[in-house]
Amino acid sequence: MKILTILLLTTIVFASQDYSNNALCDKEYIEFRKRIKRRVINEEIKNNFFEANKSFTEKSKVAGFIALTFDACDGGYNKELIDFLISENIPATLFLSGKWIDKNIETAKYLASNELFEIENHGLKHRICAISGEKKYGLRRTSNIDEIIDEIELNNRKIEKISGKRPIFYRPAGAYADEVCLKTASFLSIEIAGYDSLAGDSFSKTSAKEMSENIMRDAKHGMVVLMHLNHPERNEVEALKIAIPALRKKGFSFCHLEDFCMK
Ligand SMILES: [Zn+2]
Repeated sequence: MKILTILLLTTIVFASQDYSNNALCDKEYIEFRKRIKRRVINEEIKNNFFEANKSFTEKSKVAGFIALTFDACDGGYNKELIDFLISENIPATLFLSGKWIDKNIETAKYLASNELFEIENHGLKHRICAISGEKKYGLRRTSNIDEIIDEIELNNRKIEKISGKRPIFYRPAGAYADEVCLKTASFLSIEIAGYDSLAGDSFSKTSAKEMSENIMRDAKHGMVVLMHLNHPERNEVEALKIAIPALRKKGFSFCHLEDFCMK
């Protein structure tokens, strides 16, 4: 009996630590996906393709806050950037893709354990969330409604397993989506996160000076800045070392994206 109990407990512990897409795609999930898909199909949707190049989040009237957001699309980890944010006590919102989490599982847990960071969803396979429209930045699109649901919901579940908190924002790969994606996201109770300011670190040649100028140019209350944390070879840290003191001098503070909904 004792051995059986130990075996059972071991199985439960290992099952709960299985973050793989296969483990997440269980019977309950497949039924859930069918229900969401039926709801999406029943909607009349004009399938416009668009770039989420403004943040849709309604901002509170409390002035003086900027949200720095960092996407983790795939691969690398800019440890120096995260260490800098911690040393300067700057809250940030991190959009993690499932692809990135699978390659950086211990780092994802570490980031989720620090209250300085809000962990949000950047898509399971880092795909443009659309069944219409064209390829952008060489990124693949989701090819049907099932894949749209997987892209959002399976990564929600992966993140929730790691952080203990279900994401409330989803930023599609490349920040491109269509209205089927938008409707699906609403059925999954998650808001599409856009951005107001592109630092320009998607391009490897953007200098720190250019990035900081891009951020400073648009500085205003409620601004959502999009940068990346998966390119340790790029210039984000140097750019922030210029931009952060300058923004503070102008009276700005930093907050999580979710804080705009609460302040
Ligand atoms: Zn991305």
